[in-house]
Amino acid sequence: MFKSDFGRRDRLIKERRHDTYRTRQKLPSPTHCPTCNAFFIDGRWTWDAPAQAVTHETRCPACRRTEDRYPAGHIELRGPFYTAHRDELLNLIRNVAAQERALHPLERIMDLTDEEDHAAITTTGTHLARRIGEALARSYKGTLALEYVDGDAQVQIAWER
Ligand SMILES: [Zn+2]
Repeated sequence: MFKSDFGRRDRLIKERRHDTYRTRQKLPSPTHCPTCNAFFIDGRWTWDAPAQAVTHETRCPACRRTEDRYPAGHIELRGPFYTAHRDELLNLIRNVAAQERALHPLERIMDLTDEEDHAAITTTGTHLARRIGEALARSYKGTLALEYVDGDAQVQIAWER
């Protein structure tokens, strides 16, 4: 009895979390995010300022995730090649992130920790994490592991060379 109740509550919390960060929300158009200055116009978040006056403000899903420290993507890099080419690899990652952020306002790097033998990166969207993993594999080969967790709500990526 207790056990099944707990399971149900756990599921409800998960569903609510998905709801909170859902990108296709029903928001008035245009809506402004006061944290990052993105705008929700006609069903999507964009950096373009709207032609109409903004009457509604709410934080976008990416800013909420960042504030809640609840990433959608996790990327780990390790291996001797990483250690030897750390700056080059991190530059590639930053470039991919800058391109994605310009096109998709909700896809951003949340945190980037780089140590001598490994780096850990979290992202606000699964798409960016996947793009980073694919860019590493395309440019530098190595071993890429990609796993979606919790349906497709989160992705775990490991790259090693
Ligand atoms: Zn925002």
